[in-house]
Amino acid sequence: MMQLPLTVGSLLERAEKFFPKKQVVSRTLSGIHHLTYKEIGQRTRRLASSLEKLGVKKGDRVGTLAWNHHRHLEIYFAAPGIGAVLHTINLRLSPEHITYIINHAEDKMLFVDEDILPLIERVKDSLKTVKAYIIMTDQDKLPRTSLQPAYSYERLLESGDPKHPFIQNIDENDPAGMCYTSATTGNPKGVVYSHRGIVLHSFALGLADTTAISEKDTCMAVVPMFHVNAWGMPFAATWFGSKQVLPGPMFTPKHLAEFIQEEKVSVTAGVPTIWLGLLNELERGSYDTSSLRAILCGGSAAPTAMIQAFEQKYKIPFLHAYGMTETTPLATISTLKSYQKDLDEAEVITIRSKQGLIVPGLEMKVIAGDNEVKWDGKEMGELLIRGPWIANEYYKDERTKESFKDGWLYTGDVATVDEEGNVKLVDRTKDLVKSGGEWISSVDLENALMAHEAVFESSVVGVPHPQWQERPIACVVLKDSYKGKVNKQELLDFIAPQFAKWWLPDEIIFMDDIPKTSVGKFLKRELRSRLKNYYIEA
Ligand code: ADP
Repeated sequence: MMQLPLTVGSLLERAEKFFPKKQVVSRTLSGIHHLTYKEIGQRTRRLASSLEKLGVKKGDRVGTLAWNHHRHLEIYFAAPGIGAVLHTINLRLSPEHITYIINHAEDKMLFVDEDILPLIERVKDSLKTVKAYIIMTDQDKLPRTSLQPAYSYERLLESGDPKHPFIQNIDENDPAGMCYTSATTGNPKGVVYSHRGIVLHSFALGLADTTAISEKDTCMAVVPMFHVNAWGMPFAATWFGSKQVLPGPMFTPKHLAEFIQEEKVSVTAGVPTIWLGLLNELERGSYDTSSLRAILCGGSAAPTAMIQAFEQKYKIPFLHAYGMTETTPLATISTLKSYQKDLDEAEVITIRSKQGLIVPGLEMKVIAGDNEVKWDGKEMGELLIRGPWIANEYYKDERTKESFKDGWLYTGDVATVDEEGNVKLVDRTKDLVKSGGEWISSVDLENALMAHEAVFESSVVGVPHPQWQERPIACVVLKDSYKGKVNKQELLDFIAPQFAKWWLPDEIIFMDDIPKTSVGKFLKRELRSRLKNYYIEA
């Protein structure tokens, strides 16, 4: 067979050639822009040539601090298109972590959204390798900034070459992108994505039994483009010529619902807290969501009740998937097998709310000690994954040793596998509640609580206990219309039939808001720290 390298540049080339009329709809700070792939292609090539003129070379890291919009999409292809490395930076991390990440990756250029300028201006004196800043703004004039030298993105494009070729002589294993995980302890860890890994992952997103992204779709990535390449959606959607909607910096539930209705979005992707917010919005307002054929949800466990609400009340099919920064990220996805369609509703929803089957191309096993667990849906162990879009190390990081062993990625996630091969995540190792020598799944308790009609959000954490080591405490946010009308006992009675008595949370604490991580997951570390003296003081 021919050895043609798989390259990121070729993904956009296909869209330019075959889908020049298809659109990218992009919201920025000042409004909504409509661009065709022909325009995106020319702008990307202009940018690529300007980057070369500014001295960016093969292998150089190009950092971005940006929301989901067309300019960010253009850098997604311009940087790898000249052999440089697209380094998306999570702009919601602390200034210390952002500084660490930029210095550790040795970014040469930084692309910065106008509204992120103050954040970078604050840390600029600590950035050791950055040679230039490129500011993304809709305004003609560059905003006032202390970053030097600073270039206007649009001015750079004007002086660029719209026919600039993408690099050809490249090894498909060369780096194309990188992303740091938001570490819960210590510094963030960097993962490097190869051209080959990104292209193969894009193939995976197009499979009928995964997300089936195709030309017929209108794809809206709500998951930030700085969080594992918006789960690879921008790459796959461009390659397949799908229309794309990039919701920009203001992705409130209302804006998302409006985009779905107006742009007839068919596939959208995001973490559960985004969809809890959308569900709330759909309950309040009246929107036409009939165009949606899939809500792709991952990043943390999708509550069963939420899946049911979308599917039964709004007739919106829900796709629960699992992955990590280290897995590009799609690793498993929940789908029914053809012979399971006739199962009763309860069985179907049980399967649908698992994380599902490993996607074609990857391999997995779940081990307890040295042995693989039984596929009985009960025995728990650590999930291990390997395959062509799974990282094999952390970038220049000693912690590689802990997570990559014998050719496998040790995910740090505890899971069971059922008879059909479906993975169900019990918890992250560190989130399992260890009570009296037994394990309690915080995810299962959260799921059960979020099935109550009054509960908007719930997060359960293990709190140090003098006798039991840890006990579960539930933090709950009630829906506005139920505030003050539901008490702890009602919620405990509601979930009690599903659990052994000792699993039930000792306490339910009502809150106005549950703290979230930089990518919208419940911030359990913060809850644990707030509650750490709960039993000591009691
Ligand atoms: P971060 O570490 O910043 O949260 P990642 O996106 O890499 O960023 O997090 C990956 C982790 O998220 C996984 O190891 C797993 O614990 C959790 N996760 C991802 N998808 C799911 C899911 N569908 N259900 C439960 N947990 C999930």
